[in-house]
Amino acid sequence: LDAIRMLSDIPAAQARARGDAIAVKFGARETSFSALDAQSNRVANAMVAAAIVPGDRVSVLTKNHDAWYPLFFGTALARACLAPINNRLAAGEIGFILGDAAPKLLFVGEDFFDLALAAVADLDAPPRLVALYGEHPAFEAFGAWLGDAAATPLGQSPDLEDDVLQLYTSGTTGRPKGVVIANRNYRAFMEMATQINGFGYEVDETVMIIMPLFHVAGTNVSFSGLAQGGRLVLVKDFAADDAIRMIEEEKVAHAFLAPAMIQMMLQQPGVGERDYSALRTIAYGSSPIAEDVLRRARATFGCGFVQFYGMTESAGGGTFLSPSAHDLPGKLTSCGKPWPGVDVAILDAEGQPLGDGAIGEIAIRGGIVMKQYWQRDAATAETVVGGWLLTGDVGFRDADGYYFVHDRIKDMIVSGAENVYPAEVESAIMGCPGVADVAVIGIPDDRWGEAVKALIVAAPGERPDPAEVIAWARARIAAYKVPKSVEFIDALPRNPSGKVLRRELRAPYWEGRDRAVG
Ligand code: ATP
Ligand code: MG
Repeated sequence: LDAIRMLSDIPAAQARARGDAIAVKFGARETSFSALDAQSNRVANAMVAAAIVPGDRVSVLTKNHDAWYPLFFGTALARACLAPINNRLAAGEIGFILGDAAPKLLFVGEDFFDLALAAVADLDAPPRLVALYGEHPAFEAFGAWLGDAAATPLGQSPDLEDDVLQLYTSGTTGRPKGVVIANRNYRAFMEMATQINGFGYEVDETVMIIMPLFHVAGTNVSFSGLAQGGRLVLVKDFAADDAIRMIEEEKVAHAFLAPAMIQMMLQQPGVGERDYSALRTIAYGSSPIAEDVLRRARATFGCGFVQFYGMTESAGGGTFLSPSAHDLPGKLTSCGKPWPGVDVAILDAEGQPLGDGAIGEIAIRGGIVMKQYWQRDAATAETVVGGWLLTGDVGFRDADGYYFVHDRIKDMIVSGAENVYPAEVESAIMGCPGVADVAVIGIPDDRWGEAVKALIVAAPGERPDPAEVIAWARARIAAYKVPKSVEFIDALPRNPSGKVLRRELRAPYWEGRDRAVG
């Protein structure tokens, strides 16, 4: 690990240290560290041949696939910046990101050719289109694009200030923002992450990558796995039954899962009867987890659980709840303590630090904080103030130094004079018999300003009585937090990192009206 100062160092350092060991397994295909190094160098050389210069943006649009890794490292070696695109977006939204990032090259995987063509149609300066895998007449084949690029090092020396990745936020609260992550951010990330149980792996351990590679959770777990000589098992798409089988068959030691994935896995028949003996840790995060889901997951998988709280703007870092802390009284619902080398504070509306127990905005400071939002100077200045990243999340710190994240400020429900955090209400309802999934929103209310409403997905073949759901909640949370109404829906709208899109659920109720928050 000492030889790895930057992302671009990973393939060569590991090729020297353990060249023949498997770096990535995707389906039946295995790629060694030596092969990854050679492929990354070829991509870097081909970038230069394609007139890519330091600072240029390059984008990729496809599902998880092992072709992503030479692209990550090759782009970094060429001192360009990879701006991956969420493949679940519609053509117009992709067009918006392409217009924002203005990549010179766009690598597209099969299944996305038509979408990419629609997305570039209205661009003034469309990128050169390359088929990352698969074929399409409008796209240059990847092999042809690579040409006779050498597998030897390019000879550029990447700088710690180089922009290495431009990851777009999940777009949960609005349009995605391009978060510019410099080499130094990832260096800080890797130094910190490897000290943490759940990101610190043993050489040769298997790490399952099931989060999308365009999201900070997918990239981070990949990079920390490869930097530590782990073997990545990359999954194209999440399916609950496949994920469970893969953990058993591939002897997965570490996995990062979104709470929504864990929830779906627990609903699979036979989930409790598999062999999870190789599993050491399940890391989870990116959205709140219901307490009942966490308890059942710990009992089912029997391994250590680590919660991560962070965001794209902090290169994924922030706080973590270690496996042992899960057993401390009152800490199961905490998002843990700051990463080593990271400062976390709770700030009031004026940006002044608050003491233990006081509720305010969570702020993060340290080497992991992004360089900037791409081409959004005003948003950058509002979000990073005096070195502090303002997260937009509400929470508090307890007297033992543990942090608790309530929810996003924009999703907070102001009902009467009280603030209600939807995540807490959802967590309370989640254990109610017959409830498979739940989202809580505020809807307009003449008397209260906003009223708490629960939208429930019933378990197959069940239809819980709304009065019973309300009674269940009333027994667990304060009266003002209890939903005033309950409605059933077929499924919750979620983005690929498993986050419920509450703004979509709210929209029909708020047409033509302004919410006090958000
Ligand atoms: P956008 O900023 O575009 O609205 P987003 O905030 O969902 O999208 P990400 O950077 O992927 O984009 O997500 C970070 C957010 O996810 C955090 O600000 C927080 O609200 C939520 N989050 C992350 N980890 C946790 C966690 N452990 N518990 C609760 N919420 C979490
Ligand atoms: Mg955000």
